Amino acid sequence: MRLSYSAISTYQKCPLSYKFQYVDRLPTKPSHYLSFGNSIHAALEFFYGIDTPQPHSLERLLEELDNVWISDGYENEAHEKEYKEKGRAILTTFYHENLPSFKLPVAVEKQFTLDIDGITLVGVIDRIDRLSNGGLEVIDYKTNEKLPPKTKLNTDLQLPIYHMAVEEIYGTPPQKVTFYFLVPNQKMSARKTNPEIKNAKDTILKVADNIQKEKFDPFKNPLCPWCDFIEHCPIYRDDPVMLAKAASNGKIPKASNSKSEQAIGSRAEINNLKQSAAEIENVVDEYLALTRQIRQARVRLDELQNIIHNYCEKQGLTSVSGTRGGLTRMAHKTTHYNVDKLRSLLEPRGLWEKVLDVNSKLLKKLLDDEESRGELRKLIEAAKEVEEISYVLYIKDEMAGD
Ligand code: SF4
Repeated sequence: MRLSYSAISTYQKCPLSYKFQYVDRLPTKPSHYLSFGNSIHAALEFFYGIDTPQPHSLERLLEELDNVWISDGYENEAHEKEYKEKGRAILTTFYHENLPSFKLPVAVEKQFTLDIDGITLVGVIDRIDRLSNGGLEVIDYKTNEKLPPKTKLNTDLQLPIYHMAVEEIYGTPPQKVTFYFLVPNQKMSARKTNPEIKNAKDTILKVADNIQKEKFDPFKNPLCPWCDFIEHCPIYRDDPVMLAKAASNGKIPKASNSKSEQAIGSRAEINNLKQSAAEIENVVDEYLALTRQIRQARVRLDELQNIIHNYCEKQGLTSVSGTRGGLTRMAHKTTHYNVDKLRSLLEPRGLWEKVLDVNSKLLKKLLDDEESRGELRKLIEAAKEVEEISYVLYIKDEMAGD
């Protein structure tokens, strides 16, 4: 099986959209986001893809943006012009920021093929630089408006994939893997560890296994109104409001949905929806990452507690110290009252009833007993009153591998 990072990422977002795109090969719609990103990437490939250490001028770089510009997916001329201006501004900032430290990169648009336990993983790295200490740095350009949460560096699959690719090609792992966010002109770097590489491999293998087993359930998510296949999706194909939103996003023809105009709302509303969809995606990712960290931390805390208790037990100690503080070990007694004794004390004083309460565990046991089945059970159930409603988040984090 042959996979790429974007195929895996599509599967992680929604297995059914993966099937529509990569198995059924349904056509995707032109997207101005994609056109814009590809145009900027092509201009930067031109800028760094030279043989001499003399960089191009800013004018030449901006001229090249015109040459490589992709016009697909824009709403109209004004929309495209707005993005072209934005592209020129991004490249101008990039040029001034990077010109003083300009040096020839080790590679530009470097293709790779990796074998991960029989799965072929292919991709292209935007740029590989040589650091002053001789190590390698992978640079991946991003044209997102905003920086993602920092936890994205721990959970994103792209960075460990690039780490493995560089190790495979150059025989040494990169010292840094960096996302370069061109719009805010900021970099986010990480150095991947062996456990992170192992997690990434496990995730890739799990996705590949799911694909081989044809697990293609739809997974509703905030970006559904931008899904290229919403018209075919069993969840939304009969939902006029969602189809209208998809029409306004250019994902289905507006003429095919007569209710679209009234359901679309204003342009500002749509922009807000896009923004909040992207934000909630980041929030969910961060929530899942933190949940995983807490789970791992709890396991480690238990291990550490056991080690400390055993040590104190063996040494007969009641306190131990680290370099940043200490711990005191105290016996914690769990007690319960002798019910007969308590009753004999309280009942004569008329206080016994005051300490009685319904025990939900015992009540459940009673309901499960044979003699409670039938009428009594119904009456007890009917006596239940809702005191408070709270909401719980159940995690569907299939790629976590734990
Ligand atoms: S509309 Fe949403 S749930 Fe349906 S295929 Fe697309 S991404 Fe998946």
